[in-house]
Amino acid sequence: MNLYKRFMVQFFIQLFLLSLIFLVGMLIVWAVIGFTISEDEIQTDLAEADASYFTNRIILDDNNHFFKKNLEELAESQNGWLILLDSDGAILDSFNAPEVLPTQFTVSDFTDRLWGSLEDNQQFTYWEIEFLDMAPLLLLYGRNNMAEDLLESAVPVIDWQQENLNLTLGTKEELEKEKAWIQLLSPEGKVLDTYGEVSESSLYTMQQLGELQSENQWLASLTNTETGLTVVTGLKNVPSTAWGTTFSNQNLFLFALTTLILLAIGTFWYARKFGAPLLVMMQWIQNLGNGQYEEPTNENKGSLITNKKGKIKKKYRLYKDLIDTLEQLTATLKIHQHQQKTLERTREDWISGLSHDLKTPLSSISGYAQMLESSDYEWSAKETREFASIMNEKSFYMMELLEELTLTFRLKNQALPLAKEQIDINEFIRRIVIHFINDPSNTELKFTFVAAPQSIRVNIDPMWFQRIIDNLIANAVKYNPSGTEIKISVSTIEQHLFVVLIEDDGKGMEMEIMEKLFDRYYRGTNTHDTSTGTGLGLAITKQLIQLHDGSIHVESMPEKGTAVRVIVPV
Ligand code: ATP
Ligand code: MG
Repeated sequence: MNLYKRFMVQFFIQLFLLSLIFLVGMLIVWAVIGFTISEDEIQTDLAEADASYFTNRIILDDNNHFFKKNLEELAESQNGWLILLDSDGAILDSFNAPEVLPTQFTVSDFTDRLWGSLEDNQQFTYWEIEFLDMAPLLLLYGRNNMAEDLLESAVPVIDWQQENLNLTLGTKEELEKEKAWIQLLSPEGKVLDTYGEVSESSLYTMQQLGELQSENQWLASLTNTETGLTVVTGLKNVPSTAWGTTFSNQNLFLFALTTLILLAIGTFWYARKFGAPLLVMMQWIQNLGNGQYEEPTNENKGSLITNKKGKIKKKYRLYKDLIDTLEQLTATLKIHQHQQKTLERTREDWISGLSHDLKTPLSSISGYAQMLESSDYEWSAKETREFASIMNEKSFYMMELLEELTLTFRLKNQALPLAKEQIDINEFIRRIVIHFINDPSNTELKFTFVAAPQSIRVNIDPMWFQRIIDNLIANAVKYNPSGTEIKISVSTIEQHLFVVLIEDDGKGMEMEIMEKLFDRYYRGTNTHDTSTGTGLGLAITKQLIQLHDGSIHVESMPEKGTAVRVIVPV
């Protein structure tokens, strides 16, 4: 649980940080754009500026104050004029004023300009400008109503009777230069003549007139008393740029809000899409850690990762490689768990079998020893020798068993170094067979040896290879009745492999014995004499053959005989 929480928290923190960086970036971009836009607005209408705009455009030099050149140029380009007053109304500086100014403004000079309007066609804006260590200065910015100027030049030529604007070429040019328009209206609001770009309606309602007011920066009109016709002229508002409208404060707030909401939704989606499968896989790994070698399942014990058809669900496809690896890991761990269990069982089997096989001869040894020790009987020399011989035989069997057991473990742990030599295999096998033939206890068996037609020199460890062949011939001798024919032959397969075949026509084996033949400590059911074998012979034989990079194959039929084939590289 702890892990899941940490994971989720990490995920959210990272995504939120990313979004934050994104938002801050957006804000910076917006600030830059906002700045350039207000700069643009000021360029077309100085009245839009803040008081702070002027502080570094007005120079204070001891007692002289004057406007900087760029401010004067800007005012001039807008047909405006500037008047700078101190807080007592004394004029400190002026620029481009259309009239002769007094040195000192009275209150009425001031109010007339601001509210009373000295002349109808003038408009003033006023700022208080703060400077360090002094009373604020007052700055007046005055402009002519440009529509009024245009109207003035157009009115003299209007033909009121013909209801025609009758504009001169000069007036038209002037109108075009200012992007202005002019219209002649009847008292009912019908458009009689028009010039320039203005609303398309041919008959104005009161409401439409109101719209004209808001659409135009400057408007001027004049009504001819004789005819009742009205001429209207206007200069449209400078259209603010698209950015300007988008980035009004309210819009910005809305924009930030939607961005945040979108980012929050995005974060959840992101966490779900990438996080949820990871959580499932983490659960899986935890399962593995707890020894539960299975992928996590839903309540119905169905797979979370694959659909009913066994295909990986879309959500998990991104992690296909990871899932494959986890599946493999799970399978491997399962196999190991199974192997571990069988290994434990086999080991228990071995130990119980081994202790049984050691106990049987030991109990007979101790039995004979007790008999010899007993003072109740006097044993004859012949009897004593007989007992000693049995004890000797039993202890020899135990020694042999222990020796073979250590050998199998050494073989298994690859702790048995081979000392290979070049040997003529025909000669080598022939000697082993002769050894068996010469054994007086084997007189009732018939041995045949068939050598390979050519001499074959092979690279083997003579001691251990002899053990292999000895074991196999010994089995054929031991598990078959007298009269059995045992045939040993040597041959080659394509120059690089040699084969030693040991065949007998004896009792053969049941299928079930064949299957377990090479298991350690396994003895066939056809062996009733417990003292004559350890059940390790073939296990050791197989391991020794494998150490020579060879293989062993057994074919057998009950009552028909057995054939053992040993194939080893030359
Ligand atoms: P050890 O060889 O250690 O003395 P062992 O002979 O019983 O003991 P293996 O050589 O591994 O053990 O043989 C396993 C079993 O296979 C034997 O107990 C016997 O039942 C069966 N067996 C092996 N060879 C033959 C054979 N040629 N004919 C019939 N049965 C055989
Ligand atoms: Mg054997």
